[in-house]
Amino acid sequence: MTDCLFCRIVRGEIPAAKVAETDECLAFRDIAPQAPVHVLIIPRKHFGSLDEVPDASVVGAMSMLAQQVARSEGIAAAGYRCVINTGAHGGQTVGHLHMHLLGGRAHGWPPG
Ligand code: AMP
Repeated sequence: MTDCLFCRIVRGEIPAAKVAETDECLAFRDIAPQAPVHVLIIPRKHFGSLDEVPDASVVGAMSMLAQQVARSEGIAAAGYRCVINTGAHGGQTVGHLHMHLLGGRAHGWPPG
């Protein structure tokens, strides 16, 4: 999608602090981190949200990259949280599917 913020990051038109990438996905640091480690995992292909994915493959690829980044960031042993905000009530603000990988501190439950 031409003017989608995260599509522009995928195309390299907007800079991002990349931490990992695969053929399908990109991982980069959130610009407003909410935890010591806050990485966004996105598919290169545009999906507006989780509600638009046709099958498990894209979220599977994102999850495996989250696992890899959690290990490389040194937060796997202590634990971490993966969040996919979806739609208005989910708190989604960027209309390109993304998974938040949050770690480096304990997270409370229930979320806000
Ligand atoms: P959400 O509210 O779930 O849609 O999350 C969108 C996330 O994207 C927020 O945590 C923002 O801080 C983050 N974000 C917005 N613009 C950028 C950017 N240019 N680079 C990195 N992260 C961004």
